[in-house]
Amino acid sequence: MIPVDAHVARLPLTPVDRTVSVRLVHARLIDGSGSDPIADAEVVIEGDRISYAGSYRASVTVEAATEVDLSGRTVLPGFIDTHLHMGSDLETSDAELAAAYGSQKVLGTAVTIRRTLLAGVTTARDLGGIDAGFRESIADGTILGPRLHLALSALSPTGGHSDYHLPSGAPTRSFATLDPIVDTDDDVRRTTRLLVRYGADVIKVCTSGGVSSPSDLPTDVGVPAEHIKIIRAETGKRQGQPVAAHAQGIQGILEAVRGGVASVEHGYEIDSEAIDLMLANETTLVPTLSAALRVPDPKLVPDYLYQKKVRWSAVAREHIAAALSAGVKVALGTDSGVCPHGRNLAELGHLVELGLSPMQAIVAGTSSAAELLRLDDHLGTVTAGKLADLVIIDSDPLTAITTIGDPDAVGAVLQGGRLVKDLHGWFGIPPALPAIGG
Ligand SMILES: [Zn+2]
Repeated sequence: MIPVDAHVARLPLTPVDRTVSVRLVHARLIDGSGSDPIADAEVVIEGDRISYAGSYRASVTVEAATEVDLSGRTVLPGFIDTHLHMGSDLETSDAELAAAYGSQKVLGTAVTIRRTLLAGVTTARDLGGIDAGFRESIADGTILGPRLHLALSALSPTGGHSDYHLPSGAPTRSFATLDPIVDTDDDVRRTTRLLVRYGADVIKVCTSGGVSSPSDLPTDVGVPAEHIKIIRAETGKRQGQPVAAHAQGIQGILEAVRGGVASVEHGYEIDSEAIDLMLANETTLVPTLSAALRVPDPKLVPDYLYQKKVRWSAVAREHIAAALSAGVKVALGTDSGVCPHGRNLAELGHLVELGLSPMQAIVAGTSSAAELLRLDDHLGTVTAGKLADLVIIDSDPLTAITTIGDPDAVGAVLQGGRLVKDLHGWFGIPPALPAIGG
């Protein structure tokens, strides 16, 4: 299989580290499709892909494969976090940020990226703040990390969510790798073309204001539906990069859905009109509950942010629960960077807290997330022919979904057939050593 589109071209990772040819036997398999678990399963990996996944075959001998007995354990697909910000940490003070060297920021981001992989996330979508060099450095084996899809920057009008200027005119921290301000139709066209040139896999727009921005509110409207249509006309002439909308208040959510976005990110004030439109358009909701439900320490963040957070957490809890029960398609996304990094799979527990079944939450973090990223031919389920991205845990997530949120409960991680984490020595071979942050 030769990938031709840019968004799948970097999936095969350069095999600089140990690639294992293994036969995993006797585990419980939850394959990510939503089908019932297989109690006594077998998964065979050859090179970077899965060659068999199904019931254990007692009469079959697999040539040249190391056999690993995983009795009592559960094999799952590598998880996909469709919304995070690897280069951000909302609770790092402005003074600390200003004091850091550029090299310290880059190396710190590389450590965050590695921690995210070891938490069980083998693919991630960064929705603003890091450049494509991180994606390329993972693909070529320089650092260990999730395969990345990138938005690079989030677009908004002057004074909108990604206009990081204080009312005094002074700039605050920036999420941008290019000027993200779009006010006119021509701004929208040119900026979309620039993002494509810089290697964006997804175009991120802010159709509402936000909680963490100093000069607007989640109820404010940002990029309008007509501008999303211009972006889609541009990407439609190229590789069809999907549009993801930061949308919190209901007016911003409706602009996003009417404009034809692939995903509504946050969606805190979603109502029945938006739910019906999203069901009809098959728009995915990425509710980012890890950030939404968490109220930060008031000593660590500005007061405006703390006050907005308290109010909007309550809004999200009520409205997102209604959307989940209505059956809106959901993909897992944490907004890590706005909440702490490295506990990404705690989002599964939050999705269950607001009404999904544990199996539905797992599907949101695997096959549904892969579909949103247009990577479902290669990732998202444990299926013969797909890339061998696996997470192995010591418990049954269908009876204890919150356990997996602790990165220490993620016993082993394979990415493209490469063993990158093996906390308990289940494989009997040393895992690939991370280049940075080992
Ligand atoms: Zn975000």
